[in-house]
Amino acid sequence: MHISGTTTMLGLIGTPVEHSKSPAMYNYCFAKYGLDCAYLAFDVPKEKSGEAVQAIRTLNIKGANVTMPCKNAVIPYLDKLTPVAEAIQAVNTIVNDNGVLTGHITDGCGYTLNLRAHGVEAAGKKIVLLGGGGAASAIAIQAALEGAKEITVFNLKDSFWDRVQAGLEKISKAAPECKITLHNLENREELKAAIDESDILSNATRVGMAPYEEQSNITDLSWFRPELVVTDVVYSPTETKMLREAKAAGCKTCDGLGMLLWQGAEAFRLYSGLEMPVEEIRELLYK
Ligand code: NAD
Repeated sequence: MHISGTTTMLGLIGTPVEHSKSPAMYNYCFAKYGLDCAYLAFDVPKEKSGEAVQAIRTLNIKGANVTMPCKNAVIPYLDKLTPVAEAIQAVNTIVNDNGVLTGHITDGCGYTLNLRAHGVEAAGKKIVLLGGGGAASAIAIQAALEGAKEITVFNLKDSFWDRVQAGLEKISKAAPECKITLHNLENREELKAAIDESDILSNATRVGMAPYEEQSNITDLSWFRPELVVTDVVYSPTETKMLREAKAAGCKTCDGLGMLLWQGAEAFRLYSGLEMPVEEIRELLYK
């Protein structure tokens, strides 16, 4: 990469960021397209979110990805939010358009673009969504806006429950055509009945990643049927226990790394107007 006086900066803000794949992903794309841009990861704690956004303005940084714990904290310092970011009060991409900073959330798009890459559309589908945190909210609103027929959300009655309920009410208002309901993840009868009637089963809980890598929310493997599409947001490991077992039962599966790549592709499109070579990046990240 040739860095000169004209090179434009982009970056990632959040903490921890030292293991992030984003610098490799975006710098590969800049090199591939010959763009005079460079991407760095900046370790920013939540309480410095405002200063980080101010730095974007001062240094004329063209765009930034935002990760935890800054996804909500940057919002008061931005000029505009997309309707999806507004509805779920989370931002993972900031685009600097001549000094006007707009907050986007591309996680939900990443999910539906990954589905599409596997020949599956959210439109018209019944979806069982496990979890109600950040990733789940992004999936719910995107799938609902793309025309999903029904989203049945299951969450534990944990500290998330009240926020999940309030968040889903907002999503229902933004996409009134989609029937959205919330249930207790511990109610196995309701969960089985909902999965039996659904087209897509989506895990958006932390189950599947450390320290839960040997766990799955689906403990009865007879619930998997070959017509069911099974997806996971967890990307480390790439193939979670749930996906491994669903695949063995004949289901089509979509992994969280695909979602991660496609949300990055959407951010790259917002920054540059160009398409990210997703399969090349997948190989790069696997290496
Ligand atoms: P979050 O903290 O906002 O939400 C966590 C969710 O997991 C909540 O619904 C909570 O109730 C549930 N949960 C936690 N422990 C549980 C348990 N033991 N059993 C059942 N449910 C449990 O987190 P988030 O930001 O939504 O992230 C969730 C997962 O999604 C993480 O693994 C994260 O790495 C992944 N993620 C992936 C992408 C991607 O692009 N693939 C994007 C965002 C997040």
